Amino acid sequence: MSTDVGELARRTRAFIQEQVLPVERELIVAGRHMDDDVRVDLQRAAREAGVFGPLTPVELGGLGLDNAGLAEVLEAAGTSLIGPTAVNCAAPDDGNMHLLAAVCTREQAERHLHPLLRGETRSAIALTEPAPGAGSDPSMVRTAAARVSGGWVIDGAKHFITGAEGAAFTICIARTGDGGTTMFLVDQDNPGLRVGRRMPTLDHSAAGGHCEVTFADCFVPDEAVLGDVGAGLRYAQVRLAPSRLAFCMSWLGLAARAHEMAAAHITGRSSFGRPISEHGMAQAHVADNEIDIAAARALVRSVARVLDTDGLASSTARHGAAIAKTFVAEAVWRVLDRVVQLYGGLGICEDHLVARFLVEARGFRIYEGSSEVLRTSIARRVLRAHTTPAPAAPIAAAPASAAPTPVLESR
Ligand SMILES: Cc1cc2nc3c(=O)[nH]c(=O)nc-3n(C[C@H](O)[C@H](O)[C@H](O)COP(=O)(O)OP(=O)(O)OC[C@H]3O[C@@H](n4cnc5c(N)ncnc54)[C@H](O)[C@@H]3O)c2cc1C
Repeated sequence: MSTDVGELARRTRAFIQEQVLPVERELIVAGRHMDDDVRVDLQRAAREAGVFGPLTPVELGGLGLDNAGLAEVLEAAGTSLIGPTAVNCAAPDDGNMHLLAAVCTREQAERHLHPLLRGETRSAIALTEPAPGAGSDPSMVRTAAARVSGGWVIDGAKHFITGAEGAAFTICIARTGDGGTTMFLVDQDNPGLRVGRRMPTLDHSAAGGHCEVTFADCFVPDEAVLGDVGAGLRYAQVRLAPSRLAFCMSWLGLAARAHEMAAAHITGRSSFGRPISEHGMAQAHVADNEIDIAAARALVRSVARVLDTDGLASSTARHGAAIAKTFVAEAVWRVLDRVVQLYGGLGICEDHLVARFLVEARGFRIYEGSSEVLRTSIARRVLRAHTTPAPAAPIAAAPASAAPTPVLESR
């Protein structure tokens, strides 16, 4: 790649410092609402600073980075909670860009992908459903699409749909018969799609919130099918590795900034006759943060290189991304928790920002594959290599349940 990624990362960090952090402070301390006006203003500033669109191809006005380049630049953008949005690389748009680029038709690209890449629109992806529908187990999807003349009619309920309010379209994952699922590109102004309430979640920094969405008698034409009918969960799996890694990159940036803030804070604050930074137990927190951040960074960058070399469908990259996501989500939480501790009472007060960082990061251990579900799939991949095939049973005696359970990971 010809781009000087290190230089781009430094410029991105400077842009965040100068133009994004003041807005982040307004959101956290002054209670300003994170809406599309904020997003559009920040993205305009990012374009002027030459740091817009890490995933956007150069011909569409972006930087066209690969995953290795993204690891440095998105970590720099992630030093603010709203930095990834400012550079047009926040979830779920980043994952949807990867998915659409891999699967969509030329017409779908012009209608949905290119405006998304240019920052003209936002998108959503709707898999998760209220019980008894899909959550950790995506094979439990109940939203159904029925074949009708010229298209499909979708019915079902989804929740936790990030960015649904104000999105231009939603990628809906629905059951389409014979146990298969299919992805549909549904325009947000389709009369059959209703964005309900924004769910009152711990985090507040996602443009468009996390919403309840219903599909009621929602007609979409055949051209709205994304990829092949019946391949929805396969595409969802392909989206996971780059999407998980991107979350790791941005949260790592925030953890690294909070770690620097805590180091500065304890150097300036004293107890028992000397700066807190000179007390051994405080230094242990600082060292443990440094270790967690260094390990997380090394893991993310190595998996990013595998993804660039082996491609989205690579099982090695998927396995690596699952390991990275599990480790980084937990490391980020440990770092932010130690940072709050090092700030003392001020760590609990939103004036000092780190309280909000901790609260916002909590969901990271749940979405895009919870730690428990990821550990299950990591272990299964390891153990699969050691499983001795059972001796062939007479066909008549084979139970119907002998089919292996597919290892599907949710987002
Ligand atoms: C902030 C946020 C944003 C989100 N954005 C989106 C979005 O844009 N689109 C979308 O479709 N979804 C989204 N989600 C939903 C998210 O993907 C789900 O919350 C996640 O997949 C878990 O599903 P669930 O909440 O139904 O938990 P459940 O499946 O009910 O699981 C509850 C608990 O049980 C554990 N558990 C489940 N199975 C096992 C197992 N086999 N072994 C051990 N423990 C297990 C889980 O780890 C979890 O701790 C978002 C969620 C959050 C919090």
